[in-house]
Formats: sequence, C-alpha cells, structure tokens
Amino acid sequence: MLAENSIKVMGSEERQVSIGRLCIGGKAPLAVIAGPCAVENEQMLRETARQVTQAGAQMIRGGAFKPRSSPYSFQGLGLPGLKILHRIGQEMRVPVVTEVLDSGDVDMVAEYADVLQVGARNMQNFALLRKLGTIDKPVILKRGLAATIEEWLLAAEYIMVGGNEKVILCERGIRTHEHWTRNTLDLSAVAVVKNRSNLPIIVDPSHATGHTHLVAPMARAAVAAGADGLMIEVHPCPEKAMSDGQQSLTPNQFQKLMTELSRVAAAVGRCDI
Ligand code: PEP
Ligand code: MN
Repeated sequence: MLAENSIKVMGSEERQVSIGRLCIGGKAPLAVIAGPCAVENEQMLRETARQVTQAGAQMIRGGAFKPRSSPYSFQGLGLPGLKILHRIGQEMRVPVVTEVLDSGDVDMVAEYADVLQVGARNMQNFALLRKLGTIDKPVILKRGLAATIEEWLLAAEYIMVGGNEKVILCERGIRTHEHWTRNTLDLSAVAVVKNRSNLPIIVDPSHATGHTHLVAPMARAAVAAGADGLMIEVHPCPEKAMSDGQQSLTPNQFQKLMTELSRVAAAVGRCDI
C-alpha cells in the first residue's frame, strides 16, 4: 500500500522528456538507444554509432565508468571515454547517454553527456540521486536489481524533488531464482508504471536477459507492452567485447530488429520509429 504522501508524480498527463530534438514518452515515437556496453576506443564507437544510427537508433549509449561485479574486470576508460563519446555524438549529431557512478562525478559527466544514466546498482544511492536533482539534464534511472516498483518510483522522486523533473525510468530485469537468464525481465512493470506514474519508461532487454538470442523477442514484447523506448547493446564484434559481449547484438542483428520493431510499434498504435 502506498502511503498518501509518497508517490507524487501521478496524474493523467503522460510526461515527455525532451533531449534536443528527440522526445521520449507520451505520444512520441518509440525511442531507441543503442551502442556498446562500454566505450572501448574511438574507432569501435564511431563504427557502431554509424551503423546503429543508419538503422534508426536515435541515441548512442556507451559506458565510460563501468560498475563491474569484479574489481579485476575492465572498469571503463573514464574521462577519455567520456570525451570519445561526446565527440562521436557531435559528429553524428545524436544525443549520447552514459552512466555516472558517483555524485562527485556528476558535473564532469554532465559536461560530456546529453543524458546521465543511474545504473541498477546505484538506484538507491541517495546522494547521487539528490545531486542529479540539481542539474538540468535528463536522467535515465535504471531499476535496482531487487527493487520494488514503489522503491524505484521513490528513487525517481529523489531526483525530482531537487527540481530536475526530466526522469526516464528503465526496466532492466530483476534478480530472481531463474538462472537461464541473467535477470528476469519484468514487463508488467511497464504497465504498472504507466498506471502509477506519468514518467516515461524504456526497457533494456540486453541486461534483462543476458543472452543475444533473447534480446530481439524481449525487445518486441516490450514495445507491445507499451514501453516508450528501448536501450540495446550493440557491438561490432561481440566475441571480442571487453564487457557484455554475450548479450550484445551485431549491427546486422540490430538492423533486422529495428525493422521488426517498426511493425510491432505500428500494430500497437505507436507512430513509426
Ligand atoms: C549498463 O547499462 O551499462 C549497465 C551497467 O546496466 P545495469 O545498471 O542495468 O546493470
Ligand atoms: Mn552492459
């Protein structure tokens, strides 16, 4: 049961968050964000960005600060990675999104990124959320690994009470007993969020499933369920990726998926991508 004074962002009008010319939420076209898990080098990001934007992606993703389970795994390029991402975004004239791990890095990341991402592991990092409430850039807030939808919406409020109302939720799967998928994609969250809040919600079928072959079916299902957008990992050579290659699509697979998504979007009354 929600306490009366808890979730404030309700109301009949669905919100749209604009990122330059791009809009996410409400009646806006499906927004597709694509790119590698991590920025590995300039050449691979340029190549990936070129191919995914040609296929119809409207925004590029790429982590410069990576929240890895093991401290011995690739942690991202840091500031040089941010600069590469920014440069490619300018070159391709598309907005870029990247994760910020620490409240002390928010101003720096905001200098280079059009959208800041809070990863699942940081969903309840309240110092980070409060800091993001003070900036004038959209935030993608991923659902925590074990967070209820109510906790997730309250985390969004931490950003919004500070004055930054440009919050986009991202369902990326939750931890369950199932081990044939990396996480369990909770598509019901899309419908629950639409009922309980008016924030835009996108789905990340890559981290949700952890396997390339599951990404397309779950992406199609997410659009059918009413998601406002998708975030999909694409790598030019997944077997050589420095992180999350096992769940990355090749540019060709991504292009095929975009064609399918356009049909699903039309079937559920969403204007074309
Ligand atoms: C990511 O999108 O790069 C990421 C680390 O995802 P999540 O926080 O959902 O695990
Ligand atoms: Mn990843």
